Amino acid sequence: MTLKCQPKASHFIDGEYIEDTDGKIIECIYPATGEKIAELHSATPKIVEMALKSAKLAQRSWSKLSGTDRGRILRKASDIIRERNRELSILETYDTGKPLQETLYVDATSGADALEYFGGLAGSITGEHIPLGDDWAYTKRIPIGLCVGIGAWNYPTQIACWKGAPALACGNSMVFKPSEMTPLCALKVAEILLEAGAPKGIFNVIQGYGDVGAALVSDNRVGKVSLTGSAETGKKVYASAASGMKHVTMELGGKSPLIIFDDADVENAIGGAMLANMYSTGQVCSNGTRVFVQSGIKEVFLKRFAERVAKIKIGDPMDEKTQFGPMVSEKQRSIVMDYIQKGKAEGAKLICGGNIIDGDGWFIEPTVFSEVTDEMTIAKEEIFGPVMSVFEFEDEHEVITRANNTDLGLAGGVFTKDIQRAHRVVDELEAGTCFINSYNDAPVEVPFGGVKDSGVGRENSKAAIEHFSQLKTVYVRMGNVDSPY
Ligand code: NAD
Repeated sequence: MTLKCQPKASHFIDGEYIEDTDGKIIECIYPATGEKIAELHSATPKIVEMALKSAKLAQRSWSKLSGTDRGRILRKASDIIRERNRELSILETYDTGKPLQETLYVDATSGADALEYFGGLAGSITGEHIPLGDDWAYTKRIPIGLCVGIGAWNYPTQIACWKGAPALACGNSMVFKPSEMTPLCALKVAEILLEAGAPKGIFNVIQGYGDVGAALVSDNRVGKVSLTGSAETGKKVYASAASGMKHVTMELGGKSPLIIFDDADVENAIGGAMLANMYSTGQVCSNGTRVFVQSGIKEVFLKRFAERVAKIKIGDPMDEKTQFGPMVSEKQRSIVMDYIQKGKAEGAKLICGGNIIDGDGWFIEPTVFSEVTDEMTIAKEEIFGPVMSVFEFEDEHEVITRANNTDLGLAGGVFTKDIQRAHRVVDELEAGTCFINSYNDAPVEVPFGGVKDSGVGRENSKAAIEHFSQLKTVYVRMGNVDSPY
């Protein structure tokens, strides 16, 4: 079988591709056909050490460059990504199975946005001057040092850039470990950064399963860990980082509510709910998978939703007309199918979908349940697939209480024409990122992240600069020391 996407080697360290075939095999399977498209190796302790050592060494001189000089390199990398968008999008589609119709617009391009945005900010990362009578103090915003980035599998290029760009802008270096499910795209980000002029070692990529991630997190040279993954993994990584007093950003899972009041524009609300459940075959952390629909419009909402879902074009992700691809893996599909079975067994009403699609690849039908109650498994656990649950509600107070009845708090949305109600409701939602008459927008200028078990810290925006840097305070006495001794 031809390997379509085999990189030169598994790891990218100190500006070069490196292999160590002693590492456990990582098979890359194209989710749309089940074909093996590449074979890589998990990092051995020798590879982990090489990556950390090289990044630690490279960070010192990188942090001595002016922010403008660092930013120029990031912006150049952004330009290269945009020039190669199609090629990178095709790779993203092979890695994840997401349709090219999506990857051409949201993956490499959002990575380029992050490099451009943080490249632009790099020259403005400053402290402040604090007058104290004759004395004064100043603060400097300094790098943390060596940072570790660990990615989930749903947005491999974007996650590498959302972590790498602010880290590098602040003068840090990074060792990035992609998900073992989608190891290919981050290697290209490392290659492009080098081509744009980044010094060797400043952004190293090593492959591996959870044990490699754990080895990186526990290393005492590492000052900061940024993880995108499940809440379960997040708790382990946070605990390990805490024992070394490391900075963390935790971008974890969600079970977010989307509340649709009966004064909403129904077609708009359906569009929002579709984006919140079917985009990327439902494999989006911030998805609004608990859709609360006010009783007055529930029937029309479900009828029109089913009609619009029936028109979704499912199939070959490389065909630009395709709107809905396969699940990332056979395992993820079977996890989602188990949830669908539980939904049926616990009494939810299947409105559409619910089945595996016959043929090659890990396809599943877009699935909608109604008559879902708050106690059902599908109402409580993150499914991470194209399964939407519809709940009926009567009034605002009731729906807010039910929406917040979860340990997770990544996102939340409200559709209504009543502007005061919209703001009142998002004020009450226990969620880090909220949407009014929209869903799942994530421009780089805006902070993104969760509360409760969905994580700590924020990605994107100026907030990310604070999470990838630390303050140093310098007190300056202008006169004599006033000492009682
Ligand atoms: P996961 O938690 O299984 O794995 C995430 C990453 O952590 C992988 O690279 C994995 O190898 C690594 N890992 C696993 N155990 C580890 C350990 N003990 N120490 C260090 N690293 C370890 O998650 P996944 O299945 O890849 O991704 C899906 C999850 O990610 C979902 O819960 C989804 O909601 C979440 N997610 C969150 C965001 C966000 O921004 N909040 C974005 C995308 C995905």
